[in-house]
Amino acid sequence: MQFKGRGLLMVFLRLVTQLFLLIFSAASFADESTSPLDKETLRTYWQQELQLHDFIFKVFAPNQDIFIKAQISFHNQLLAVNKKSHYAVMQLSSEDQKRLLQKDFILLPATEWIKNRRQHIESSITTYSKHNNSLVNAKQIEPCYLTVEETYQGARELNQLYADLTQWIDIGNSWQKTMSKGGYDLNVLVITNKNIAEEKPKLFIQSAMHARELAPAQLSYDFASYLLSSYQRNADVTWLIDHREIHILFQANPDARKMAEQNLLWRKNTNENYCGSTSLSRGADLNRNFSMFWNSNTLSSTNSSNDQCSEVFRGSEASSEPETQAIEAYVRKLFPDERGPANTDSPPLDKSGLHLDIHSFGRLLLWPWGHTSVGAPNDAQFKILAQRIAYFNQYISEKSDALYPTDGTSDGVSYGELGVAFLTFELGDQFFEPCINYNSTIKPNNIKALIYASKITAAPYLLPSGPDVSVESFNNTATDVYDLILRADDSHYYSLRFRESPQSITAAEYSIDTPFSNNSISTSLDLVDGNADSSSELFSTQIDSSSLSPGRHTIYLRAQNASGQWGPTTAVFLDKGEISPFVYFKQTCDNTLLCNFDADVSFSNTNTLTSYNWDFGDGSSASTSITSHNYSAAGSYIVTLNVSDDNGNSTSVGKTITVGVTSSAPTVSFTLNCQNTSCQFDATGSNDDGEITNYQWDFGDGSLGLGIQASHTYTMTGNLQVSLTLTDDLGLKSSNSQSIKIITDKQATTSPTSDGGGGGAFHILFLLLLTTLKSVYLRQK
Ligand SMILES: [Zn+2]
Repeated sequence: MQFKGRGLLMVFLRLVTQLFLLIFSAASFADESTSPLDKETLRTYWQQELQLHDFIFKVFAPNQDIFIKAQISFHNQLLAVNKKSHYAVMQLSSEDQKRLLQKDFILLPATEWIKNRRQHIESSITTYSKHNNSLVNAKQIEPCYLTVEETYQGARELNQLYADLTQWIDIGNSWQKTMSKGGYDLNVLVITNKNIAEEKPKLFIQSAMHARELAPAQLSYDFASYLLSSYQRNADVTWLIDHREIHILFQANPDARKMAEQNLLWRKNTNENYCGSTSLSRGADLNRNFSMFWNSNTLSSTNSSNDQCSEVFRGSEASSEPETQAIEAYVRKLFPDERGPANTDSPPLDKSGLHLDIHSFGRLLLWPWGHTSVGAPNDAQFKILAQRIAYFNQYISEKSDALYPTDGTSDGVSYGELGVAFLTFELGDQFFEPCINYNSTIKPNNIKALIYASKITAAPYLLPSGPDVSVESFNNTATDVYDLILRADDSHYYSLRFRESPQSITAAEYSIDTPFSNNSISTSLDLVDGNADSSSELFSTQIDSSSLSPGRHTIYLRAQNASGQWGPTTAVFLDKGEISPFVYFKQTCDNTLLCNFDADVSFSNTNTLTSYNWDFGDGSSASTSITSHNYSAAGSYIVTLNVSDDNGNSTSVGKTITVGVTSSAPTVSFTLNCQNTSCQFDATGSNDDGEITNYQWDFGDGSLGLGIQASHTYTMTGNLQVSLTLTDDLGLKSSNSQSIKIITDKQATTSPTSDGGGGGAFHILFLLLLTTLKSVYLRQK
């Protein structure tokens, strides 16, 4: 009874809060927010969050099973989990509170969580108050997490370094970008050896759809980075890059991620049409906005909302958000539709392709369906797939509906429409996961899980039912003879939840240089103990390499269990004779014709690299791994790098680079509009032949701003110079400045410059004219 009484009180408090927010936002915001944030906007968001603390509770479940299910169903409301004391901290609307109380949960005030968070917010406010400018640029998140810009820059560098193994493609725009309010492209890094042309199984990984979940984007970035830096070092990674396509969308919701980088608990996108343009609670939950099954549970209680301010607001209509549209279009382009129209239709079980949606937190692996308690037609296969992956990260696997259905989620497009196997990862224990946890556990374990996922992408409904193999030893024991010992294991499941009974291993085989297929030639290995009676067996063989050409070969290995199912492939290199160095370099050229070259990631498997010989294509050369060259004329040059090792092996790679002609610096144009001391700045009229990546404002009074649009309130009056510096994608910069006269309210009404229509009018007109003249001048230039 006590709790129901509190529930009613909460309804009242929520109404009061919303009313307050409405008045507050209408009064305080004349301008639009930009990305990144200015100090005042950020302060307002923090104040808004403090108001929401009345809805934060410690939630105790009636038992452990329901506790796990509540973490799935109320995932969006989850702020912390105390595993020891078996409670969760959740932000709950009055409706949520009612639903949990009906299921015999106990709700108590989350005093400690609120106190800690309040302290954190207050110290953030104090820190910013000390700075004299309005710029809010430094990230407030721990250093192991790259910002959006750092992620994009890192991906571009990987793309340049591993040009044959990657593509960096633009699949759409964030909401802010579609509205010309700053924003970002949505980019996918595709990892595959482009020199091997064949139909390859495709893995699509998307991360950071929910902005405050920090670990997911970093994991997918670290996975990409690990794959590329392990190419030709690690045989498993090498065959995966050769024979898979791995598509990674690191930042699925970059606009909002910028908010989370300021320590805001932002989940949805930043769409200003929902819940008020300056509300901390605005935006649509992208993971409730997908077309299939969107708002499909209209009659029952569900975990998506029609309330624009709810953290699970589903958007104005199915796929209303540009981020959702981009992902749906891309997934439909990647995978063929092989599932029938009925919910009960299964795709062919040998269907290739896998879609992983990486979130945090909860240490969970979730499979479809989420919108109904009825099992998906591939429920049995999903259980096995999830349990095999859980072997690596030790997460609990569950069907994603748990206590309540969740509609409009991202599995709708891949599994729902197309029949592509799908899993959601929920990494770790916190949204703002400490780096120590991320680096020690989340990253290493989940990179292993993602390697396994890449392997079984060829047939995710079948391969997880087969055994894993690992190489125990592989040695060159005599001329042209290699002794191989292999372990095959069918018991690599996490816990006893849902797993198949491990079966006896019956066979193992290898193939040289050709991955297993109907056309590959394979040779059996011998059971070491002679009896196929265990779920873990050793196999051995001798490989005769006398007929192989000198150089690197790949031995593909796999095993079969008693049900006849083959498992995923593991590979090992057979290096016959010397292996030449592997050579990679990246370059950055600025508009003064100076280029910096870096070949430091080049390596040899067995020898030491001793010399680097650069030919810059204009008759000049250099001989260190990191070097620079000043070209005397703009144009295209073929740069060649030859790297040798201490055993006389060498490799040359060449690249055509363009210097000084592809890009000119951005053209700066901006308007400003002041009401007394409060000014709005807009650089929408600026342009570049590439892309403008950075807007930096100097407001002339010692404060700075960022973003295509910015606002600033002056605390001083008089004549000031406002300048804007733009940087484009090649790092080219240009700036321009305008004079501005700041006058106070009083000065405005008594000002002799008044033309009768109000003090500011003439002033603004003059500035607009000035700006127009400037842009005409710039265009002619
Ligand atoms: Zn999430």
